[in-house]
Amino acid sequence: MHDIVDLRSDTLTLPTPEMREAMARADVGDDVWEEDPTVKRLEALAAERLGKEAGLFVASGTMGNLVSVVSHTHAGQEVVLDLDSHIFNYEVAGAAVIGNVQMRPVKTARGFLTPDQVRGALRPANIHIPPTGLVCVENTHNRHGGTCCTPEEISAIAAVAHGASVPLHLDGARLFNAAVALKRPAREFARDVDSVTFCVSKGLAAPVGSVICGSAEFIARARRVRKMLGGGMRQAGIIAAAGIVALERMVDRLAEDHANARALAEGLGRLPGLSVDLASVQTNIVIFGVERAGDPAASGAATAELVAGCAARKVKIHAIGPASIRCVTHKDVDAEDIARTRDAFAEITRKW
Ligand SMILES: *Cc1c(COP(=O)(O)O)cnc(C)c1O
Repeated sequence: MHDIVDLRSDTLTLPTPEMREAMARADVGDDVWEEDPTVKRLEALAAERLGKEAGLFVASGTMGNLVSVVSHTHAGQEVVLDLDSHIFNYEVAGAAVIGNVQMRPVKTARGFLTPDQVRGALRPANIHIPPTGLVCVENTHNRHGGTCCTPEEISAIAAVAHGASVPLHLDGARLFNAAVALKRPAREFARDVDSVTFCVSKGLAAPVGSVICGSAEFIARARRVRKMLGGGMRQAGIIAAAGIVALERMVDRLAEDHANARALAEGLGRLPGLSVDLASVQTNIVIFGVERAGDPAASGAATAELVAGCAARKVKIHAIGPASIRCVTHKDVDAEDIARTRDAFAEITRKW
């Protein structure tokens, strides 16, 4: 039980004592010179977990995606991705500004492109038309509420992309949540992709960083791009040390976050005015709608009332739309905190 229950994001997780200990003791060197043994250990461990030849430690998931897009594409190419994807919506158009590529967002039902959608979006060779340079998928899907696709779904997309000699990138910021939820090894999701990124900083609770994994040849190119973007860090083993603890100690416990999210969703689903799609609560994210009197203005006011009412009860939640709230469970939220959160919501909605 914590004094403040912070459900705004799993990026708020604080490093564990074991991480701080590992950081204090880390052997370090200049990683731009490829002489930091702790960074190398993290990169090798990540590559091994994802079944790839090599890894590259980067400052953030956003940097991992940008480095990957730039490393795969040339200026003037097109990137096929889901309309609700993080890369298209929340990465400040970095791929367009820095990579000079055009985005081709495709509307999907669940956040996951189907093989037919990829086939339909690939461009023919024609002097007028931008060539397709990359396809991207995201798992778990952030904007769709932490939903998962299977390794087989990713492989089916890869087959179509590769059939046209186009590479596939997996934005797996929360890939280990998908692996734990579906009880599949993370490497199965990455088997047929040409690059994959995941965050050690979210549910895995490290303070900083993401890792890109791919072939040795791809990672060598990505290392150059990372340097170009100012991401060549020196004694980065200090932070990579926490990433190693994240991968070794924090993956299996994600199941607790998933159980807490489900318990929260089930509780909220019984309250008046809240609509939760339980089928979409597959990992650690609960997105729900707020509805009062069938009226958008009343629903918006009720959403604000919930955020303020929870804050007054030391429960922090985050509105992601005019009548939509997101709660994210993580290692700094326990079952008692979830019970308290359910009570807070019940009290606020009692008079609705
Ligand atoms: C959080 C997130 C990112 C970006 O990671 P940062 O470390 O916050 O830059 C990328 N993709 C997805 C799907 C995410 O959820």
